[in-house]
Amino acid sequence: MSTTTNQPRVPFVDLAAQYASLAAEVNAATERVLRGTEYILGSDVAAFEQEFAAYCEVDHAVGVDSGTSALELALRAFGIGPGDEVITVANTFVATAFAISYTGATPVLVDADPITHNIDPSQLAQAITPRTRAIMPVHLYGQPADMDPILEIARRHDLIVIEDACQAHGARYKGQRVGTFGHAAAFSFYPAKNLGAYGDGGMVVTNNAEVAETVRRLSNYGQREKYHHDHLGYNRRLDTLQAALLRVKLQHLDEWNAARRRHAARYAEVLPEGVVIPAVPEDIEPVWHLYVIRVPERDALRAFLAQRGIATGIHYPVPIHLQPACQDLGYQRGHFPVTEEAAGQILSLPMYAELTNEAIDYVATSIREFLAQSGRSAGLARVAD
Ligand SMILES: *Cc1c(COP(=O)(O)O)cnc(C)c1O
Repeated sequence: MSTTTNQPRVPFVDLAAQYASLAAEVNAATERVLRGTEYILGSDVAAFEQEFAAYCEVDHAVGVDSGTSALELALRAFGIGPGDEVITVANTFVATAFAISYTGATPVLVDADPITHNIDPSQLAQAITPRTRAIMPVHLYGQPADMDPILEIARRHDLIVIEDACQAHGARYKGQRVGTFGHAAAFSFYPAKNLGAYGDGGMVVTNNAEVAETVRRLSNYGQREKYHHDHLGYNRRLDTLQAALLRVKLQHLDEWNAARRRHAARYAEVLPEGVVIPAVPEDIEPVWHLYVIRVPERDALRAFLAQRGIATGIHYPVPIHLQPACQDLGYQRGHFPVTEEAAGQILSLPMYAELTNEAIDYVATSIREFLAQSGRSAGLARVAD
């Protein structure tokens, strides 16, 4: 019996391996919740909020039903809505921009930095208008955005900063956890994230008690107490079963992030000249949600690796401003050249805690073969500088 015939030799992520390593703990927690019948909010959600806040080194955490909701409700908690502009980056997952649009505010985009692929702080000043209310930097790929200049410009213009930390659980910038820099931050527990649920989930973190309370009300029908509704709210609560399972997984997050760090170091060691490996700015401790290389012949390399049983991803093939869903923002091709060029060259290699050295070496050998076959074994500098 074989159920693995269609499985790649090196998957992009391996949630089955992760579950196998946790099955006893996860199954016990599931049974505890099912038998306890506390299915909405309750002690597991409250405990997970406390534990995640402690992990993030922040005062308050409020569970919600997704990272997208976390972004939207954080914006709403600051009263951001129609007529307001929120600046974010063209190189991100679409949810960053959608969350802004849901509130009625307008996403205003800036380009990415060519080395880090993160928001380029030097582009912010020219994007600020009298309507600008907030900046939403994204810690993309688990690499913290360059927060110092972002916070500096936000202070100067009296802007709210809401971090999209959906890919960066545990990352540090100058020794400090992401999620603690802005007025609030959003995390996602989408299954493939560094801390992933067995379904959807998200969290807003903040040091502002009032903001935390507002997000809590917004996520639970605007109620202060049961059946007393202060304002229009939503049903965006964090599922109790997911909270219980996330409590189990949170205990392993540091060890998983350390494994990702080791894998990134090995990739950097064994990947051939001819691909650009991720640059890590000084004073930054990324958590390697994704390991993104750059290579001009990306599509051919991706097909070659697929043939060799290596699954890869592209994050993201279409920048926000070129998404059909975002055409009303009024941008065109050419507006964000760094993001547009990267979109054609970036390739995310397999990255997850359970990845083996053998698998990494096999990926590197395969890339070396591809480059040799395409007559390009040397050439481009390996690390952008
Ligand atoms: C995953 C993600 C989101 C959205 O999170 P969901 O939990 O899927 O709603 C938002 N922004 C970024 C950068 C993400 O990677």
